Amino acid sequence: DSVDYKKSQQFADIMTDKSEAVSDFAKRNTIKQQREYLPVYAVREELLKIIRENTVIIVVGETGSGKTTQLTQYLHEDGFTKRGIVCCTQPRRVAAMSVAKRVSEEMGVKLGEEVGYAIRFEDCTSESTVIKYMTDGILLRESLNEPDLDRYSAVIMDEAHERSLNTDVLFGLLRDVISRRQDLKLIVTSATMDADKFSAFFGNVVVYNIPGRTFPVETFFSKNTVEDYVDAAVKQTVQLHLGAPDGDILVFMPGQEDIDATCEMVKEKLESLIEEGAKPLSVLPIYSQLPTDLQAKIFQKAEHGMRKVVVATNIAETSLTVDGIKYVVDSGYCKLKVYNPRIGMDALQVFPISQANASQRAGRAGRTGPGQCFRLYSERNFRDEMLKTNVPEIQRTNLSNVILLLKSLKVQDLMEFHFMDPPPSENMMNSMYQLWILGALDNTGELTDLGRQMVEFPLDPAMSKMVIVSSMMGCSAEMIIIVSMLSVPSIFYRPKGREEEAISKQEKFQVPESDHLTLLHLYQQWKLNGYSATWCTDHFIHVKAMKKVREIRQQLKEIMASLELKLISCGSDWDIVRKCICSAYFHHAARLKGIGEYVNLRTGMPCHLHPTSALYGMGMTPDYIVYHELIMTIKEYMQCVTAVDGQWLAELGPMFFSLKDSSQSKAESRKKFVNERIAMENEMKEAQEKIEQMKKE
Ligand code: ADP
Ligand code: MG
Repeated sequence: DSVDYKKSQQFADIMTDKSEAVSDFAKRNTIKQQREYLPVYAVREELLKIIRENTVIIVVGETGSGKTTQLTQYLHEDGFTKRGIVCCTQPRRVAAMSVAKRVSEEMGVKLGEEVGYAIRFEDCTSESTVIKYMTDGILLRESLNEPDLDRYSAVIMDEAHERSLNTDVLFGLLRDVISRRQDLKLIVTSATMDADKFSAFFGNVVVYNIPGRTFPVETFFSKNTVEDYVDAAVKQTVQLHLGAPDGDILVFMPGQEDIDATCEMVKEKLESLIEEGAKPLSVLPIYSQLPTDLQAKIFQKAEHGMRKVVVATNIAETSLTVDGIKYVVDSGYCKLKVYNPRIGMDALQVFPISQANASQRAGRAGRTGPGQCFRLYSERNFRDEMLKTNVPEIQRTNLSNVILLLKSLKVQDLMEFHFMDPPPSENMMNSMYQLWILGALDNTGELTDLGRQMVEFPLDPAMSKMVIVSSMMGCSAEMIIIVSMLSVPSIFYRPKGREEEAISKQEKFQVPESDHLTLLHLYQQWKLNGYSATWCTDHFIHVKAMKKVREIRQQLKEIMASLELKLISCGSDWDIVRKCICSAYFHHAARLKGIGEYVNLRTGMPCHLHPTSALYGMGMTPDYIVYHELIMTIKEYMQCVTAVDGQWLAELGPMFFSLKDSSQSKAESRKKFVNERIAMENEMKEAQEKIEQMKKE
């Protein structure tokens, strides 16, 4: 019952005579030889010459050609770092970290010294850093304090084809920086051929193509639409392992849960087959929340010449290159953050990939020799259901953070900002509205004092507000712990076979009326136990995550100090903490409807307590709650929930709720909500017109 394939397409790529030699070159070659084998090495001099002669350069090259790891080094070797740091931005944190590590090894230096990286809450650089990898979000933040990016001699904007929100905003900002700083080099790299658009944006600048070296990839479509892509991927992987010639396998999955499930199932299947003489297989997951030491594993050769299967998110599409992949299994899905107008906010959702993604994924099989790609979707799915290319993030997500940033960079009229592809004005308005209800923007669309303070925190607007308000309400010591706990991926783990033990240990921390307070309680217990690692292990808590929480807490403390916000504890009066949460999350409020079932107060949409919630476990059913975020699986679940008073909602979110609200019909409150919004939009428009008028006069 394996997936039935139809061979349909032959990638007409140039076959070179090196295919054989490449198979295990990593093992036989030194780092120097590896570097010299990369396609970009062949054009090193030519490329450097063009960089010297131009200010902005677009560099196009296949994934794996050496753009990310080599360009920074070439610039360094050519003396650019004498004038300032060479930085390279990445849309993904994992890529920034892992590539920095690789480059430090290639240069034979300690990571964090000459070569470093910076991601949110983690700065691994020093005085001696000359090559710096960083997320695009960090560079954007740096431009707040240093609009001309003076400390850099060259900025490489990597993975531009990904069109991440931050990259798109940086494009607009850097366009101006370049006009002010003739000495700065801007290099934009892309793995795809859509470079003309980038070139046009910067005024028809030079596009340089790194000659590629790809091998033919045979592509197979599933004959029918696949019902369960995890199941299908497992079957395909096992079948390849048992029957196909040597070569590693790369499986693309949308997200962590599917990756974990796939890995588990492949291992399980093999266990039974090994008794029948099947060879062992090394199964490795890769996704952004995976601990770094496990991430590094995907680049290593499996022991004893074992075959390796890497199960990845679209991070392995272009950001990370795993050598030796010969077979690709493509689920056809990825997770995207999209603005969901129904719930009025962003949600991570599983979507079909675009045709451009599909060919990138297939291409991974043909990097070091001819390969095969198995698509777990039909040719009809591909043709009719997949977009040609991705919709840039800026056109599909919430822009609150970006707006705060641009506003504090004194960009008066956001609609006039030079975007490569402007966001829909509806999106812009929605996000401005959200900032307005949080009190970050005033009625004319200008930053308020609160808004100005919010910008300083590397957090979502609602979380920033929560921290600032907590200092006024007298519970900031507690709040920065909660916010830090919310800023790391997963705290708890439940090992297979020991779930019940783990659950019963973890339940001890539960504070019946609040998941936020549960997190606080847990942290305080850890502190009481001397921040002990064994204590964490005993309670099935990730030690690394907790250490990270402590670091983040320290950083938030420093930001607060710089803003002269007081650090005060409310002692055991945790109602204040709940009220403070309510003050920043009243737009995420819901009212009880049935057991575990709530309706969103603003939209009337049903939403559910998550089974892991403290409220769920304790059978607590408060009338009103606020939640941190919604996650969408089969149902809409509220993640991290706190019970609040109806009274507080009326007091803290006056634009939404009045005390009479409960007696008002849904239609009435909806009408009120719409009217408020129209009023705000009109005022903003008027203010904008006034500014225009003033400019003319
Ligand atoms: P590009 O940016 O053009 O896609 P890269 O510079 O990322 O290319 O990759 C060049 C080579 O460096 C690839 O062969 C890749 O496998 C290798 N490489 C990149 N990162 C690592 C790492 N963390 N460990 C080992 N090898 C790596
Ligand atoms: Mg790259």
